[in-house]
Amino acid sequence: MSASAPQRKVNVRTPEVMERVQAEVETHYRSTLVEAVRARGNLLQIGGTTVRLAKEFGFCYGVERAIDLAYAARRVFADKRVYLLGEIIHNPEVNRQLTEMGIISIPVGRHEEEVARLTSDDVVIVPAFGAETNLMKLIASRGCMVVDTTCGDVMSVWKRVRGYAKGGFTSIIHGKASHEETRATSSRALGDNGNGHYLVVLTLADVDFVCDYIRNGGDKQAFLKRFSAASACSPGFDPEIHLQRIGVANQTTMLKSETEEIQRRLQKAVEDRDGGSSANFQVFDTICGATQDRQDGLFHLLKQPLDILLVVGGYNSSNTTHLVEIGEQQLPTFFIRTADCLTSLEQIIHFDLHLKAEKTSYSGKLADRESPITIGITAGASCPNNLIEDTLLRIFALRGVDEAAVRAAAGV
Ligand code: SF4
Repeated sequence: MSASAPQRKVNVRTPEVMERVQAEVETHYRSTLVEAVRARGNLLQIGGTTVRLAKEFGFCYGVERAIDLAYAARRVFADKRVYLLGEIIHNPEVNRQLTEMGIISIPVGRHEEEVARLTSDDVVIVPAFGAETNLMKLIASRGCMVVDTTCGDVMSVWKRVRGYAKGGFTSIIHGKASHEETRATSSRALGDNGNGHYLVVLTLADVDFVCDYIRNGGDKQAFLKRFSAASACSPGFDPEIHLQRIGVANQTTMLKSETEEIQRRLQKAVEDRDGGSSANFQVFDTICGATQDRQDGLFHLLKQPLDILLVVGGYNSSNTTHLVEIGEQQLPTFFIRTADCLTSLEQIIHFDLHLKAEKTSYSGKLADRESPITIGITAGASCPNNLIEDTLLRIFALRGVDEAAVRAAAGV
């Protein structure tokens, strides 16, 4: 097969398959307890223990679709080798389930090497984040069957950055350069003919550095050292040329307030340089609706009186991380992977965003069984409801309430 071979996309969504798949997915990830608590205004109070759930949390439409398609691929191609590029979503429990079903995950750092060995008899699942254009071409050249679960909201960002490239604008992407979605988006920012450019900024310090260069110029080598070391700029990027006309986009799962600030600062820098004109600046907010709803849901939850906040999800999940950042600004917040992280009333194992490591902390509030406590819970778009259920049950168990009593109180 040639390198320009067309993609061999296969449709696994037949009504008969999807009916069986959805039943299987529900068995793995659904929680009647969580649904009951939601129906009761997201509140469950038993004795002195109160749990409040955010209005929006957990699986988004893009994640549900990706999981459905992965399950369907396994079912339709029961006699074939089915591969997955990295992780379907950033949740270890979901990925473990897919591995148990015999879906082979190809680690991110080994995509090219492993895909180069595949044949036309193999099936490749593209995750919800999408994949880089070169990798997609390689998959096509091997003739593999492709089940593409890329979320429509991610594809909207691709459309935007392709448009920037077409108009001669460099894409400034707010995101994490190493994140699968941002890598896939960056590859589209090169444009259909490969002449486009991109720069990925993560922090406000990155943005201020770029703004300073836009206004005043500077040390080109220092600029390139800062961004190319992190693979955060396109090959051949020249800040003197490629910051002249810029268009801003973002990874779909960033913190809304930070993205807006970044847009504002970049626009101001371009206007300062160009005598107040914004003709060389474009912007399009590409945070997805699901991320926004979960952030808004948490802001709403934080208006209620809470003693601690638990955020449940995979430690490498971008949208979950931002929920933790929001919570941390207001109250003691614990980022837990599963209910097992609540090891006792005294100790919580959780991920510390600042140390970038798991650690164990003491929560005096939880430990005092005699005093009333209100615990807030939220979860990112990649966290299934069964993990929220486990967390709910674990909290009440630690506070002396057994599962039957919890279910009865929730009306399940
Ligand atoms: S978080 Fe947003 S972009 Fe990602 S899968 Fe969900 S809806 Fe799609």
